[in-house]
Amino acid sequence: MKYRSTRGAQNEISSLDAVLQGIAADGGLYMPVSFDKSFDYRELLALSVTEMTERILAYFLDDFDDIPGIVSRAYTGKFDAADLTPLVQVGDRYVLELFHGPTSAFKDVALSVLPQLLSGAKKKSGMEEEIVILTATSGDTGKAAMEGFHDVPGVKIIVFYPYGGVSRVQELQMTTQEGGNVRACAVRGNFDQAQTGVKQIFTRVKKEGLPEGMKAVLSSANSINIGRLVPQIVYYFKAYADLVKRGVIKAGDPVDYTVPTGNFGDILAGYFAKMLGLPVGKLICAANANNVLADFITTGTYDKNRAFLKTVSPSMDILVSSNLERLLYLLSDCDAAYTADLMKQLSESGVYTVKPEILDKLQETFLTGSADDEKTKETIGRVFKDYGYLLDTHTAVGWAVASECGVSDRPNVVLATASPYKFPAAVAEAIGLAAEGDEFELMQRLSEKSGTAVPKNLAGLSEKEVRLKDVTDIDDMYDYVLRVIHE
Ligand SMILES: *Cc1c(COP(=O)(O)O)cnc(C)c1O
Repeated sequence: MKYRSTRGAQNEISSLDAVLQGIAADGGLYMPVSFDKSFDYRELLALSVTEMTERILAYFLDDFDDIPGIVSRAYTGKFDAADLTPLVQVGDRYVLELFHGPTSAFKDVALSVLPQLLSGAKKKSGMEEEIVILTATSGDTGKAAMEGFHDVPGVKIIVFYPYGGVSRVQELQMTTQEGGNVRACAVRGNFDQAQTGVKQIFTRVKKEGLPEGMKAVLSSANSINIGRLVPQIVYYFKAYADLVKRGVIKAGDPVDYTVPTGNFGDILAGYFAKMLGLPVGKLICAANANNVLADFITTGTYDKNRAFLKTVSPSMDILVSSNLERLLYLLSDCDAAYTADLMKQLSESGVYTVKPEILDKLQETFLTGSADDEKTKETIGRVFKDYGYLLDTHTAVGWAVASECGVSDRPNVVLATASPYKFPAAVAEAIGLAAEGDEFELMQRLSEKSGTAVPKNLAGLSEKEVRLKDVTDIDDMYDYVLRVIHE
């Protein structure tokens, strides 16, 4: 399969190069040139999750060698659920637990695979330079990427996170990471500023190259990398297959998916699944109080000129959702000039409005809504009381919005993007536990109250040494990167 940038229709490149480069030189994102209609989703329904992953990876990343080896190295022994992403019935909904990986958030699913893809691509293309991964994180990507990349030979990784903008647990997860090739650096700014900073470094280096004498290839672990998106398609199939196996639906019946959304990567993977023929009914895009996306899907106007709010679901505190660009490209029938123009308007004025026919197409598949902190906590409390099931703050946003989007007779799969133990303060408060004490005491109390175990990777955090303490201003991010490359 060939790839091209959402902002410039020329220059088709291989999947190998798309993964290696992360982002295109024109600032656009790589997209498959076409979705081959021959893909038969029914063939996947009887497969194991490993086999499903192999099939979907092989379809999108067809010039990689040894996909089974990549999948095996990515997942073997790293998840605490045999089927990676279990589907649990809660009331009349289905919760797709995506948090059984090494950092207890859904990003593990793709970030376990990406380092293997990058090493494979590096080897196959004969690249000798070191790969330096730059990533901005709203909290979860950073740790999941560090966990995936630590000690991978020939690769360094730098993670930028907003100073004071992530939970205590998230911060400790990053600052205690071991490995000689990992750096975490707090940025004095919010996530959007950190993400924009990273994009500007890419664009600058693509244009000017690195300073004399420095050799490295920059790449990205953010969901702008197509290698991040592809593994996420798998669990939409996996959940669907589980529903068929349990007799909840027959193959061919539509299923709705509710996705707590920030950068639009997770939900976009659902749209890719639909393009591959999976009977996806509606995709419900759930936002927190930073409801730019909900407004966009409702009105067709994307307007990031508003206050950036810090919420109890920090991994969704985002005003510029990078992957929306990919959807705009698809909905405009792959019109790169049109997509580039919208992105230019966004960067110049912070606002754009799509054509009415694009809004119509968007609303055909996507429903949307938002839940503020109060509603989120109320939802956690109610779901725990009614069903004894503990939602995390992000998943609760999804649950609340699914309720608001009205009932349909289609099954609703709510994607559970993090373990409740990752956000113990807000979750404890929501179910009426005394919220005093540090986050580790709260984890214990949550465990006693809910009868579930604290994930091992989180329980051990309080004893680990804090190793990574760098802090930088937004304007100094580039120099920071150069220093790390030089080390
Ligand atoms: C990253 C993240 C999200 C948002 O996913 P996107 O792909 O950025 O839309 C939601 N919940 C959690 C817990 C996350 O870590």
